[in-house]
Amino acid sequence: MPQTYDYDLFVIGAGSGGVRASRIAANHGAKVAVAEEYRVGGTCVIRGCVPKKLFVYASQFSEEFEDAAGFGWTVGETSFSWEKLIANKDREIDRLNGIYIRNLDRAGVTIIQSRAVLKDAHTVHLVAEGRDVTADKILIATGATPFKPESVPGIEHAITSNEAFHLERLPEHVIVVGGGYIAVEFAGIFNGLGAQTVLLYRRDRILRGFDEDLRIGLMEEMPKKGVDLRTNADIASIERKGGRLHATLKDGSVIETDAIMYATGRMPHSRGLGLEELGVEIKKNDAIEVDAYSRTSVPNIYAVGDVTDRAALTPIAIREGQAFAETVFNDNPIAVDHTLIPTAVFSQPELGTVGLTEHDAREKFGEIDIYKTSFRPMKHTMTGRHEHTFMKLVVDAKTDRVLGVHLMGPSSGEIIQAVGIAVSMGATKKQFDATVAVHPTAAEELVTLKEKWAPPAS
Ligand code: NDP
Repeated sequence: MPQTYDYDLFVIGAGSGGVRASRIAANHGAKVAVAEEYRVGGTCVIRGCVPKKLFVYASQFSEEFEDAAGFGWTVGETSFSWEKLIANKDREIDRLNGIYIRNLDRAGVTIIQSRAVLKDAHTVHLVAEGRDVTADKILIATGATPFKPESVPGIEHAITSNEAFHLERLPEHVIVVGGGYIAVEFAGIFNGLGAQTVLLYRRDRILRGFDEDLRIGLMEEMPKKGVDLRTNADIASIERKGGRLHATLKDGSVIETDAIMYATGRMPHSRGLGLEELGVEIKKNDAIEVDAYSRTSVPNIYAVGDVTDRAALTPIAIREGQAFAETVFNDNPIAVDHTLIPTAVFSQPELGTVGLTEHDAREKFGEIDIYKTSFRPMKHTMTGRHEHTFMKLVVDAKTDRVLGVHLMGPSSGEIIQAVGIAVSMGATKKQFDATVAVHPTAAEELVTLKEKWAPPAS
């Protein structure tokens, strides 16, 4: 007699990856349950990409009001209500949370509001309900949690992006620590909403891993908008004095502020789930080790999304969830390709990037051609704002293939999504050039770049 289980699939974590896997598996006829200890939707929907982008929109109005003058508008006195923004954001997140729940219900997936811990390879203990359930396959989709360096004295006074979405009031002064996606995005948000914002980064150039021109470009643009960007700077200790925080930096200087937000990376959420006890291999950084089909070292246990740290991005978690469900429940093996990932950073100005950086392309292909341009966006010829848009193509000199595209400026996220199709298809520079320009746009520069860039003669 084959062993019978309560479920064909038990998913731990109802975020982007877990929800997609649950729905697709259920659509293929599997009996599925998903456990979630917080809210259905996961980090992206509840306290990540979605509310972050709403905050970015909110923060851009301060510049829009100023810029309107160049077009003849007189904007009356403006004021901003943090409370209203939070309430409206929460309402939208509730709506999305409801949609996620309804979609799971419609697919026939059982949602269990509880923390879930593995007792053995087929038994899950539901902590909130004090009972066990069994399943043939288990999927771990528990995401990642913000990391704060606990060795910094007073670190308990600092918040992370999790709390930033629920602050009671907008701080007048804020320090953001880190130089990655979240740090630059939140520095722009706080600054645009009117907080005096200091961004502290421990090395000399933010956004490690991005193309150098984008890193340099954003470091030039952010201070123009008002962010006090300090590199080679880090906090040694934090003290609460009265209602304020005193951050002592490693160089001995002290900054007084109202809030300190650490955006110093996220750790895969793999501990405390009973995985180590079962022999599931976990890497040093807490990421669960998986093969190309998201299978862990225990054959009936799989993992997708940030907890595997392959590429900590929502669309990748969704792809991995889908590929897992197709592979396991539809006999249609799919391995997700992690090589070409278009991505946007919602900094101000925005960044969009796909493919290889100039540095990596040179290492991999040797001879490459660079095309780049920097110009003032048309809108700012009227506003007088000294902001620059930057665009760069990295091309393989031998095959003419476009290996990378790197953008900084308004709508870079939107542009990179479309241009990412061409790059994924292996388009050549000649094919870019053969595409008719859309005029007047910023993106038309991508198909009209004629001159190869040469380093200035020294
Ligand atoms: P990142 O890994 O992107 O950046 C972490 C930053 O913190 C780095 O600049 C790092 O510096 C610095 N740092 C790390 N440890 C310390 C420390 N102990 N003290 C001081 N500084 C430190 O992480 P994020 O938190 O910004 O974002 C997490 C992930 O979320 C990203 O990798 C991304 O995949 C995803 N994300 C994507 C977004 C998007 O698509 N738009 C938006 C937000 C998040 P160093 O460079 O020296 O290591």
